[in-house]
Amino acid sequence: MIPYGRQSISEADIAAVEAVLRSDFLTQGSAVPAFERRFSEMVGAAHAVAVNSATSALHIACLALGLGQGDTLWTSPNTFVASANCALYCGADVDFVDIDPGTLNMSPVALAEKLKRAESTGRLPKIVVPVHFAGEPCDMAAIHLLAQKYGFRIIEDASHAVGGRIGNEAVGSGRYSDVTIFSFHPVKIITTAEGGLALTNRQDLAERMAHLRSHGITRAPDLMCEAPDGPWYYEQIALGFNYRMTDLQAALGASQLGRLEAFIEARHRLAARYDALLVGAPVARPYRAPANHSALHLYPIRVASARRKEVFEYLRGQEIGVNVHYIPVHLQPYYRALGFRQGDFPEAERYYAEAISLPLFPALSEADQDKVVRELTAALETA
Ligand SMILES: *Cc1c(COP(=O)(O)O)cnc(C)c1O
Repeated sequence: MIPYGRQSISEADIAAVEAVLRSDFLTQGSAVPAFERRFSEMVGAAHAVAVNSATSALHIACLALGLGQGDTLWTSPNTFVASANCALYCGADVDFVDIDPGTLNMSPVALAEKLKRAESTGRLPKIVVPVHFAGEPCDMAAIHLLAQKYGFRIIEDASHAVGGRIGNEAVGSGRYSDVTIFSFHPVKIITTAEGGLALTNRQDLAERMAHLRSHGITRAPDLMCEAPDGPWYYEQIALGFNYRMTDLQAALGASQLGRLEAFIEARHRLAARYDALLVGAPVARPYRAPANHSALHLYPIRVASARRKEVFEYLRGQEIGVNVHYIPVHLQPYYRALGFRQGDFPEAERYYAEAISLPLFPALSEADQDKVVRELTAALETA
């Protein structure tokens, strides 16, 4: 089976993990801060907090921004469930903003309209979570302007967008948001097996997230309520979790970061090849804004909805691991039980009915890619 995504592990990656295995600290050693420093310097953000998943990063980012009962978080329905679940973890409500059918990202126009309505009913969101779907950056300048007008906070879900750029600025620089979170799951751009990271330029948010990652405990005297009664002293100042990344993971992450540029280049080369090979095929190819640099996590095409299932099953039958991103979050049974319904976010639903993600990962061979296009073309002709 040609998978839709796959990690790329080098001998240097293995050596980096092995070195940690032979060292004194498998966790809470020096590899995590080293990875955080390297990541934040690469992107140009002041603070990085590495955690055990992007889901955890979303959770502690919401808590650090004060999200709680009575508050609302808005995100895109065209995302993985974690982008919305983080609000429910905090006891807050979730709502969605429909996507732009061209970019497949949260529509700034739909957001502006929904904010206007929410203002009149006094139900403005506290946090908006734009998701850089497939690695293609959202229109952050527009969303940022709306944040200034309506006073909400922004967490960028950049799980797909490690190495992406908005104009000349790296995704995560914090120009347009309070926090940016990344995922290092093996299908994503770089991997730490499981893992995630939050970037911010605000020291207070970085400190809060660092506490929440590790039981709400601090060893910094200036943050303590009492004077330390000895060198062993620490204080729990918040109700935190164990969301720590291990040093094994961080060493892998740092080694993978050194390969990031090559990964993104390979994804662009392969995507351009798909673009060229699919000219004339009855499919819509994914949008890429000329001014931005997508990280190209996915290559999602749209086919006629009446044929999508047949085409998908045919390709799977040919050992091609196509996938669908995403079942709109509001249509998940858990969210339907909260009151969401079919028809609430029609653009996300229409896209879902037509979506197929073709295999895309740095080591995808041109021969395998040719097979994908050949079989896709055959499926579209016979379906
Ligand atoms: C993968 C993903 C997540 C969750 O990442 P984990 O590291 O697996 O927790 C969140 N949001 C989006 C958009 C994702 O693709």
